[in-house]
Amino acid sequence: MSQAASTLAVSDATACDALVVGSGLGGLSAAIRLQAAGRRVVLLERHAWAGGHCGSFEHGGFRFTRGCNEFGAGMVGLLRRLGVAVPFAPSTTLLSMGGRTWRLPPDLATAGRLLWRAPALLRLVQAVRRARHADLAAVLDEAVRDDEVAALASVMAYAAGVPPSAIRTRSMLAELQPELGYELSRQVVPVGGAQAIVDGLLDRFRALGGTVRLGVDCREVAPGAGGFVVRSSAGTFAAREVITSQAHDALKPPSLRRGLSASQLLFAVPATFPRLRERAFAHMPLHAERWIGSLDQGEMPDDIGFHLFRDQVTDDHVSYTGFCLLPRGEDEPSEARVAQVLGHVRAHVERVLPGFGDALVHQALLGPGEYARVHGVRSELSRVVVDEDWHPPDLRDPRTGLWHIGNGLSVPGQHAVAAALSGSVAADRVLARA
Ligand SMILES: Cc1cc2nc3c(=O)[nH]c(=O)nc-3n(C[C@H](O)[C@H](O)[C@H](O)COP(=O)(O)OP(=O)(O)OC[C@H]3O[C@@H](n4cnc5c(N)ncnc54)[C@H](O)[C@@H]3O)c2cc1C
Repeated sequence: MSQAASTLAVSDATACDALVVGSGLGGLSAAIRLQAAGRRVVLLERHAWAGGHCGSFEHGGFRFTRGCNEFGAGMVGLLRRLGVAVPFAPSTTLLSMGGRTWRLPPDLATAGRLLWRAPALLRLVQAVRRARHADLAAVLDEAVRDDEVAALASVMAYAAGVPPSAIRTRSMLAELQPELGYELSRQVVPVGGAQAIVDGLLDRFRALGGTVRLGVDCREVAPGAGGFVVRSSAGTFAAREVITSQAHDALKPPSLRRGLSASQLLFAVPATFPRLRERAFAHMPLHAERWIGSLDQGEMPDDIGFHLFRDQVTDDHVSYTGFCLLPRGEDEPSEARVAQVLGHVRAHVERVLPGFGDALVHQALLGPGEYARVHGVRSELSRVVVDEDWHPPDLRDPRTGLWHIGNGLSVPGQHAVAAALSGSVAADRVLARA
């Protein structure tokens, strides 16, 4: 989508109060908020399905999750405020680190080990709170020095697709501040999977009288009388306000280095195969700076981290969806790399679920390129701010008058609660301007 300087013809335009570009969590949240306040809202989505990074898809005859699957508990209240009822359950993970397994939330054995490491954990929290060290690697080197506590903290770096040295302590603090309401320290999962959230949001928007146009690409936005004229693959729209999920120009300068992109792991086993008590299994190598740093440099380390979660359970089979990171630049991994990574993941899962490899009825690894082709969105996990003075743009760009939400921005787009919240906040500001 581009913003044209010219004014487009509006004679046959469909008129609305607000046009929302993109049906991800940000776009759907904005659309519901505005429609519920009595505005006429049109939501355009270029794909035949809604949800963006959220939702489920089919591969090899089995169903898997597209991207987001586990949410900060702030998502529960956010959906409730939008009038969407989705049941959530606490997330449970078996974490393998340095040859030992930890249960999250902690069972007795894990709680004992955490208690033993309480001083190191306390030093970690204090070092982050005081922001004395510039980045997470410095916090771990200078204030923590306990390999397992460091590996626990480095899960944040894995989730962001960057080595710990690229995680700014100040931005960690910003993400964790309770005022934002993300509640990232308490993770929950939607019962029925991520598609339940998309279905709930879509149903709510339609029930309020909102218009969803799937398979419609927004191509151009130009100033028009009393607002904007939007040219799309399905004709022209006239809208007083435009809220878009597309990237803001400020995210394109060379001073912003891209984080690594996720690759997707897909497995299915017969329903009769044993299951873990926990929903998710994660393997995190110790020394994240070394292994994520090697990936960042385009090299394959000896050991790579991944996580995998139990996804769809049918009478016939259980599907598992997971993610891992490949060396930078390997957007289309070779057959040998795919076999190597799948073998590595299987070997680690075998340790907690013996026989997993032999039981598989489906297995695949989608590299970042294939992820983009299958889902229509990129799997880039974050953008690393190289220039310390750079700040994410405001929701409303004063030069263009467009509202940018979710993945269209930097910090708010990095996790699902932030994406949905930015849509809600943009809608509230639109309403406040009227
Ligand atoms: C692999 C992966 C795993 C993740 N896991 C988690 C997780 O477990 N928990 C978590 O909190 N977060 C997770 N995230 C982040 C989370 O998924 C995103 O922050 C969130 O879903 C973004 O929502 P959004 O609405 O901003 O954008 P998107 O989901 O990207 O939606 C944007 C939509 O806009 C549409 N669109 C774009 N341009 C146009 C156009 N011109 N015309 C019409 N339509 C257009 C796109 O097709 C898309 O549907 C993950 C991200 C990735 C990549």
